[in-house]
Amino acid sequence: MEPALSPIRSHHVAVIGAGPAGLVAARELRREGHSVVVFEKQKQVGGTWIYTDEVESDPLSVDPTRSVVHSSVYSSLRINGTRECTGYRDYPFVVRSGVSESRDRRRFPSHGEVLAYLQDFAREFGIEEMVRFETEVVKVSPAAEGEIGKWRVESTEKEKRVRRDEIYDAVVVCNGHYVEPRLAEIPGISSWPGKEMHSHNYRIPEPFKDQVVVLIGNSSSAEDISRDIATFAKEVHVACRSNPADTFIKQTGYNNLWKHSSIECVHEDGSVVFQNGKTISVDIIMHCTGYKYHFPFLDTNGLVSVDDNRVGPLYKDVFPPAFAPWLSFIGIPWQVLPFPMFELQSKWIAGVLSGRIPLPSKEDMIMEIKTFYSTLEVQGIPKRYTHRMGNTQFEYDNWLASQCGCSETEEWRKEMCLANVVRKEAHPETYRDEWEDHHLISQAYQDFSLYS
Ligand code: FAD
Repeated sequence: MEPALSPIRSHHVAVIGAGPAGLVAARELRREGHSVVVFEKQKQVGGTWIYTDEVESDPLSVDPTRSVVHSSVYSSLRINGTRECTGYRDYPFVVRSGVSESRDRRRFPSHGEVLAYLQDFAREFGIEEMVRFETEVVKVSPAAEGEIGKWRVESTEKEKRVRRDEIYDAVVVCNGHYVEPRLAEIPGISSWPGKEMHSHNYRIPEPFKDQVVVLIGNSSSAEDISRDIATFAKEVHVACRSNPADTFIKQTGYNNLWKHSSIECVHEDGSVVFQNGKTISVDIIMHCTGYKYHFPFLDTNGLVSVDDNRVGPLYKDVFPPAFAPWLSFIGIPWQVLPFPMFELQSKWIAGVLSGRIPLPSKEDMIMEIKTFYSTLEVQGIPKRYTHRMGNTQFEYDNWLASQCGCSETEEWRKEMCLANVVRKEAHPETYRDEWEDHHLISQAYQDFSLYS
């Protein structure tokens, strides 16, 4: 370990984005004594949780000239984890006393309740005074060539049409990773006459009335949207490459919803052929195939890059060794409980920047990343899954917590998260309304009383 930076130093830090990651980053950086400016291109805090009817002009979101809509949230969306697990560790996502009756009190509330919670968080901790709204960061680059340290942050303010060019000691990237769609490759698609879209541009089911729709993917979005659409569409077929080749299952409770294996090919006559041998005439294919990491503003001369959805090299998914600690990323891992992880990553970054928490040497960080990549390779895990955590997330969170001197992830949170994964898999249509883990809820609320 290299000695810590001379403690305790305060720095001028730019945070990009005022979604759940940027909000908690701003709080932790300021708590640590840094001066913080948060750049946010939208009009309000909340990031992806700001629902909008608006969709992009290109339903597949591949046209580079399109005007980008940030949120991928659809109208019926309810969170896919429990309230207790979803919130930040020290600002639980509970129904607070004195809030309006119109708030969604359910254990798995709608997207609007998450936005309200984030607005409460921002108000409670005075975050908005650090945010420059409607200000988009267009370029981040090292301030002086060949010199590691300061960053030049170029931004444009929409309303006043002001372009700013400023120097910061450090940049924390919190721009969100559910904006730039990934698409499935479908043999024959260039001559298929139907309509294609990505779930990024899905909002409501009514436009699918009487249509035959194929959704590709096995994410929460595919699961939710297929059920949403089935109430209006003539037929809904979900194609998933992780299903066995002969999969053809009618979903219970529906007379128009089927699960298949992957699509084998599509034809000029509008038909879609599945690996299970079924052929169906289809109107719309919706790609529910996830997103790509995308940092259009970041100019690091290739020292940080995205290759097949691996952002790298990153030490512990946060610091690129070439620029550590002056450039960092929050929210790169997926299949995680995001908010608690953002909170721990933020505390770590804030403490490392002030010199309170030491980082290994650049060489040691690079060595660790190389070892990690080799382990993935040996295990046959594709590059695009580099940042997928799942079961290893709590080990990661606990490591961050140990760096920051915080307590480890609560036992109830781990157990509740795992129980929810199992319930969701077994009962995708009812897991948000029926559960048995009452003892875990009691334990969670006992802990929450510390913060109320
Ligand atoms: P975001 O929320 O995307 O915020 C990023 C912010 O950065 C935005 O406000 C954006 O405007 C701003 N920004 C981006 N680029 C710039 C720029 N150049 N200049 C200035 N500002 C910029 N998580 C859960 O915990 N539970 C769920 O049930 C759940 N469901 C989800 C469902 C869907 C459909 C999606 C897409 C995601 C879901 N998530 C869920 C994950 C969700 O993305 C995270 O909870 C969280 O919103 C990520 O926070 P973030 O701050 O990293 O990114």
